[in-house]
Amino acid sequence: TVGAVARDAQGRFAVACSTGGSAPSLLGRVGDTPIIGSGFYAGEQGAVAVTGIGEHIVRRLLAHTVYQWIADGMPAQEAADKGVALFPDEIDVGIIVLGRRDAGSASNREMPFAQMSGQMSEQVGK
Ligand code: ASP
Repeated sequence: TVGAVARDAQGRFAVACSTGGSAPSLLGRVGDTPIIGSGFYAGEQGAVAVTGIGEHIVRRLLAHTVYQWIADGMPAQEAADKGVALFPDEIDVGIIVLGRRDAGSASNREMPFAQMSGQMSEQVGK
């Protein structure tokens, strides 16, 4: 999965994600990535993108669950960590979170995260 979260100059949030799916994949399988609230969610309080094993992520409605935590005031990093902690170690999961005050990311696998602001870009985690 490639996921991106963004906030514009007017404070509006957006999220986008794309996936190659999983392999092997059952015919007609739909993972978490295209399902709102599972692989992605954005609202007035932030944006969340998720990756990992879709069958498990869908059952948790993970992107919306994490969004709700930040909407209720939880720091973004704490929400990302708490989201990953919902899953046993053998289930791949990664989360990026952008809130009104902060941003966070977490994964139980090696995954690259990049943070960009204006013309600046830096790698902030793996
Ligand atoms: N989340 C995707 C799926 O389960 C797989 C991935 O790209 O990580 O379809």
